[in-house]
Amino acid sequence: TLDRRLKQVVDFIPHGSVLADIGSDHAYVPCYLVQNGIVDRAIAGEVNRGPMEAAEAQVALIGATDKIDVRLGDGLAVLNEDEATCISICGMGGSLIRSILEAGKNKLGAVERLVLQPNVDGEHVREWLLASGYVLIDEQIVEENDKVYEILVGERGSETRYSQNEDVRKWQLLFGPYLLERRPDAFKLKWRREADKLDYVLGQMRSGEQTEALLEKQRTFTLLRDKMR
Ligand code: SAM
Repeated sequence: TLDRRLKQVVDFIPHGSVLADIGSDHAYVPCYLVQNGIVDRAIAGEVNRGPMEAAEAQVALIGATDKIDVRLGDGLAVLNEDEATCISICGMGGSLIRSILEAGKNKLGAVERLVLQPNVDGEHVREWLLASGYVLIDEQIVEENDKVYEILVGERGSETRYSQNEDVRKWQLLFGPYLLERRPDAFKLKWRREADKLDYVLGQMRSGEQTEALLEKQRTFTLLRDKMR
C-alpha cells in the first residue's frame, strides 16, 4: 500500500498509460500501478545507482520485470522519443522538476499528462506549465506526517484558468488556482506555516537586509492569512 501522498499521485495516472516515473527511488508508483492493473507498461528512471537498485529489487519482488523497465540516467534522458504517454515526477523541489522537464522537452511528444509533486516551490512548476503550453487541469494538497505536499496535473492545451489581472495571476501561480479557490485544511496549514516562517526570518534581519521581494511576499502571505481566518 502507498502513503497518502503517492496514493494521490497514482489516482491521477490514466488507465492504460505508458508511465515514466522519474526519480522513482523504490519504484513504488509504477509497481502499484502495474499490480493494480492500471498500467501494463512503465519505466522507472533514476539518476542515482542506490535508488535505481532499490527500484530493481522492488520490481523483482512483485514479479514485474517484464512490465517495468528500470533505467539509470538523468531526468527524461532515459526515455525514447514518443515512448511515455504519462510522466510522474515526485518528491523533489519544484525548480528541479522544472529543469528536468525543460531539459527533456523533446521527450514530451506523446505525453498526454504530467503528474508532478513538488515538495517546495510549486510556483516554478506552474510557471513552467503555463509557459510551455500546458493546462493545469487539477491540483491536490495532502498532509502526511506533519508535512504538506502539493500535486499538480498538467495536460497540453491552452490555459484559461489564470486571470488576466497580473496581481491575481501572481497569487494563482504561487498558491495554485484550484487550491486558492478550495482552500482545504492542508492548504491553510501550509501557508500559515510559510507566513509564520517568513515573519520570523524577517524579524531576525536588520531592516537594511530585508529585500523588497521578501517584504512583498510577507504582504501577500499576510493578506492570505487574513482571508483564511
Ligand atoms: N519519487 C519518489 C517519491 O516521491 O517517493 C522518490 C523521491 S526521492 C526524495 C527523489 C529521487 O529523485 C531520488 O531517488 C533521486 O536520486 C532522484 N533524482 C534526483 N534528481 C534526478 C534526476 N535529474 N533524474 C532522475 N532522478 C533524479
